[in-house]
Order: sequence, then C-alpha cells, then structure tokens
Amino acid sequence: MTALPSAAFPDAFDVARVRRDFPILDQAIHGRPLVYLDNAATAQKPRAVLEAMDHYYRESNANVHRGVHTLSERATALYEGGRDRARAFLNARAREEIIFVRGTTEAINLVAQSYARPRLKPGDEILITHLEHHSNTVPWQMVCEQTGARLKVVPITPDGALDLEAFERLLGPRTRIFAVAHVSNALGTVNPIAELTARARAAGAMVLIDGAQGVPHCAVDVQALDCDFYAFSAHKLYGPTGIGVLYGRREVLEAMPPWQGGGDMIRTVRFEGSTWNDLPYKFEAGTPAIAEAVGLGAALDYVDRIGLDAIARHEAALLSYALERLREIDGLRFIGSAPQRASVVSFVVEGVHPHDLGTILDHAGVAIRAGHHCAMPVMDFYGVPATARASLACYNTTADIDALVAALQGARDLFGGRG
Ligand code: PLP
Repeated sequence: MTALPSAAFPDAFDVARVRRDFPILDQAIHGRPLVYLDNAATAQKPRAVLEAMDHYYRESNANVHRGVHTLSERATALYEGGRDRARAFLNARAREEIIFVRGTTEAINLVAQSYARPRLKPGDEILITHLEHHSNTVPWQMVCEQTGARLKVVPITPDGALDLEAFERLLGPRTRIFAVAHVSNALGTVNPIAELTARARAAGAMVLIDGAQGVPHCAVDVQALDCDFYAFSAHKLYGPTGIGVLYGRREVLEAMPPWQGGGDMIRTVRFEGSTWNDLPYKFEAGTPAIAEAVGLGAALDYVDRIGLDAIARHEAALLSYALERLREIDGLRFIGSAPQRASVVSFVVEGVHPHDLGTILDHAGVAIRAGHHCAMPVMDFYGVPATARASLACYNTTADIDALVAALQGARDLFGGRG
C-alpha cells in the first residue's frame, strides 16, 4: 500500500498468471497491446466473476425473497451468499449490517438522507476533507441546505496529505458527522483512518469512511476501525457495476428510517400507514441487483484467493517503479506526493493538456484517465484544471509502466520537446 522507494516485488506473486484470469487484457487497441491503467475508475473483471454471473443467469435466475419455487430459493441463497461474503470481507459483526446499494455514491446519499437529514439542525457541523470525491461532498452540501448545518473542510498539505493539526482544530463539539476517504482517488493519498476515526468518535461525531479506493488495496476490519459507516463499490474491486456495500453499525441502522419505499422493505402496508422490514431489507427497496451480488461474492473470493496483502505489495512495488520511471519525462510534474500512497499517480506534463495526453496514449494502447477525477477542489488546490492519472491493479506489470513512459515520451515529442 505504501510506496516505499525500496519496495520490492513479492516473490510469490505470479502476475503473468493473474493476467490470464482477465480475458479483456488480451486484446489490441489501435493495433497495440492494451495497457490498462485506469483502475481507479473501474477495474477489469476476472473470469471467476464473469462465469459466476453467467452461471447465475443460465441456471438460477429468478426474483429473490418472495418466491416459493426452486429457482427463487436458489437465487435468494446466492444473493444472500454475496452478503455473507461481504460481511466476512469487512469483518462486520452481523450480516444485517451489510446493506446492498448501487455503489459508494448511493451509500453516502443513503446516510446523508436517512441518518443526517432527520437529525441535523442549524449550528451542527459536518466535517469532510479537501481530498474527497464529489460523492463524499455533494450529498453533504445537500443535507446542509436541507437542515441548516454547516460543512467544514479539513485542508491538505502541499504534498496532498491531510493537515492533521487543522483536523484537530476543526473537530469540535458541533461536529456531528466526519466523512473521509480511506484513499484519495485523485492523488492516491492513504488517510490514517484508524486514528481519524478514534479521534472523531471520541469527540462525539459519527464517522463515515468512503472506501471506494480503500478496499481494492487495503484489508479493512470495520470492528477494529470502529467506524459507524464504511462504503465501497464492487466495480473497483474486480466485481460488477451496479452494486456496492454500505456497512453500518447495527444500532445506528436500526435507528434510521428507510430511505426509499417499495417492495421488500416493508412488513405491512395499509393505506393508513406501513411498517418496515428488518435490517438489512429496510434499506433495500425493490428488486435488487441479484446477479451483481453473485458477482461481488465471486470478486471477494477471487481477491481472497490471491490475497489482498500480496496485491498491495505488488502494487506498492509497481508504484515505486512508476514514480522512478516517470521522473525520466522532461516537464512531468507529479500532483500529490503524500508519504502514504496507494496505486495512483497523478501528473501533468508541461505544454500538453491532460486530455490530449489521454488521447495520444490511447493511440499507443495505453488507457489512463484525464480530467478532474470528480475532485474539483483538489484540482483547484494545485491550480490545475485537470491531471493525467495512471492507476494500478493486481494485473499490471513493469512492462505496462514502460509502455506508459514510452507513450508519454512520444507525446512530448509530438508537442515540441520541452514545450
Ligand atoms: N469515492 C471515491 C474515492 C471514488 O474514487 C469514487 C469513484 O471513483 C466514488 C466515491 C464513487 O464511486 P461510485 O461511482 O462507484 O459510486
């Protein structure tokens, strides 16, 4: 997880074998072998996930919970099996604490609307950080407008780490919620979430951790962390789009009203009023993403088989290598260089707009992301409209980094050398 300059590739990690699990990687783009370095946006899916979902649709597809027939019972068992896998993955106490949602964005909106909105009053404060993805900013802005609460923001240091002294100053008796990214998607900064959570809870605040970029690179134990909420999306963890997890502490979820109304989330419905189902179904209105829950379970099994620690060590070594090699590019400036980093390198190249870089690299078969990465305040902090971002996953290799560097050299040449 941490990009130590001396990080070595783990001996036992067979990246060639890992790559064979991802059929999409075996193709050419514009006549060049695909080099996929846009993993922070979404990761590719291993055969195990593709096959689990395919198998589900071929053999077991039915709606869940309401059916008495065999296929419905099978679909229900598979769907709930995905929840059991997610519980184990996060080490939550109970399966009732695992709410299936569409993704991290929906998880945070659920907490904002169901936990925060009914409770917050003018004078209350929500504390976030300058590193947040828009999905951990805008839902809180909306709830501030709805309740009269105020949004406070922990600043960052020039290298893109959180300013911990400012955090201490901003955390106060009015702080009702502290919402923080585990890992920044724009810079790769790994936040010290255990310490932050302990401090915020001691100050009486509820803690939500946006784990969208955390779970692909770091093992998470929500009991050890003692956070109130932890959210992640399956698609950044080798699983399908359309499903994610909101972990919530049971007693907190029990005290929250449902967010959306509809089938499955009710116990009784009369025109005079309705009563709610138990956890976790109270928060899962309507037909859920069943095949996706199966895919998520398969993705978690896959990650377990390879081992998150081994993945993290491989990625840390690769990040060290990437940082070293990228220094060879004239005019390249890193955006963000926090001491604790995971799998993301953001940069600009003098004289070449990041979007042009993205297009030129695509012609060399190299997929990176160019833009504000849904973190406009981070771009403002560094005074750039956008960055180019390469982000790593378990299947990336030093050859991928070499291809990135060669393509960047090509872009520099195209745009007239030293700009
Ligand atoms: N939070 C972070 C840190 C992210 O990187 C992302 C996606 O890039 C999100 C939240 C939103 O995730 P999703 O679009 O899957 O809801």
